Amino acid sequence: MRIVQKFGGTSVGSIERIQETAKIVQKELANGSEVAVVVSAMSGETNRLLALAHGMNDNPPAREVDALLATGEQVTASLLAIALNKLGVPAYAFSGGQAGFKTEGNHAKARIQSVESDHLIAHLKNGEVPVVTGFQGVNALGHVTTLGRGGSDTSAVALAIAVQADCCDIYTDVDGIYTTDPRIEPKARKMDSISYEEMLEFASLGAKVLQTRSVELGMRYNMPIHLRSSFHLIEGTRVTKEDSNMERAEISGIAYNRDEAKVTIKGIPDQPGIAAAVFCPVAAADINVDVIVQNISEDGLTDLTFTVPRSDYSATLKLLNTLCLEMNAREVRGDDTVAKVSIIGVGMRSHAGVAKKMFEVLAKENINIQMITTSEIKVTVVLEEKYVELAVRSLHKAFGLEAA
Ligand code: ADP
Ligand code: ASP
Ligand code: MG
Repeated sequence: MRIVQKFGGTSVGSIERIQETAKIVQKELANGSEVAVVVSAMSGETNRLLALAHGMNDNPPAREVDALLATGEQVTASLLAIALNKLGVPAYAFSGGQAGFKTEGNHAKARIQSVESDHLIAHLKNGEVPVVTGFQGVNALGHVTTLGRGGSDTSAVALAIAVQADCCDIYTDVDGIYTTDPRIEPKARKMDSISYEEMLEFASLGAKVLQTRSVELGMRYNMPIHLRSSFHLIEGTRVTKEDSNMERAEISGIAYNRDEAKVTIKGIPDQPGIAAAVFCPVAAADINVDVIVQNISEDGLTDLTFTVPRSDYSATLKLLNTLCLEMNAREVRGDDTVAKVSIIGVGMRSHAGVAKKMFEVLAKENINIQMITTSEIKVTVVLEEKYVELAVRSLHKAFGLEAA
């Protein structure tokens, strides 16, 4: 077996944890596996480095921030390689660039283009352990880039695909993927397995347990992902192709995302091309638009409301205010205290009335729904942020997701 093991921030959060991690690697080698490792920065380190940059300059150059943030992972990769050598395991630390991660796209949101990993495969065949920094690569200019928060998951899956591993084990601080975030609902139930498709919805709707892009890659290349705890070495949750035996409950789980803001441009002339006129400049500013609602028009004027990541809120308002003047619209409004709660599950395809049940549960709790969007396997509502926990817990109970 060839395995890529990824260790998240809490799993390498102290010298002791790094020593424990080294033992987990050693154990896998003792099972006869070839092992490559991907590490995150020590927990809290990426935030600390980011705060240093912003303390220096309100608007630090993205290239320099990337180079700074990448050092977090470099520290843990080297320390883990040192710990492994102490146990008698030959190990070598590599930065993303040294490991062959080539990226494209903007700083702070770069995407992996390729992983040139022949030298890593040579180490694997020799029984040596490459320890690779997650979250980073180098672009065509040779500059260090980072892959977005939580990006080490994506580095790990990409490496697993590149070295043709049998599985990508993601070690973290929970025992697996739960029906909802166990930090919000202690009665959440651990799943034995989940399909890529559902996990993709979970991740993109806010369950930060795996970065969305890592699941996309896993799905595209059919790389099995095993999410498990580095604190209790028990079976975790396997993310795999949908299989016909998977449970078919009404819904599989609930995700939430607080990183949301809502903007409305009111009283725009309702004519062909307005959506394009609004969304083209937003897209050009690299702002991801999510839920969109356009009202029916009255007197030839309409309102357009949509959500964006909270970090892009002020940039979006600025853009819309300019557009408002150009398009002769009435006004722009915004709210950055909204959040998104979603119910997810392939079971929705075969159960009717799931959305209706969600709305009834929220109504009973007196929670106002501001926006709604659905797909074949999810229903998402936008609501006031202060209701997130209440909404998640009451939906979790009403849909019978609690652990027995
Ligand atoms: P790491 O640093 O190891 O990458 P993360 O903090 O990124 O760990 O991800 C693990 C966390 O994801 C858990 O501590 C948990 O609070 C959160 N989480 C959110 N939704 C879920 C879910 N459905 N199942 C499990 N964990 C979840
Ligand atoms: N250290 C980075 C972060 O905190 C990447 C990761 O941990 O996956 O987002
Ligand atoms: Mg993570």
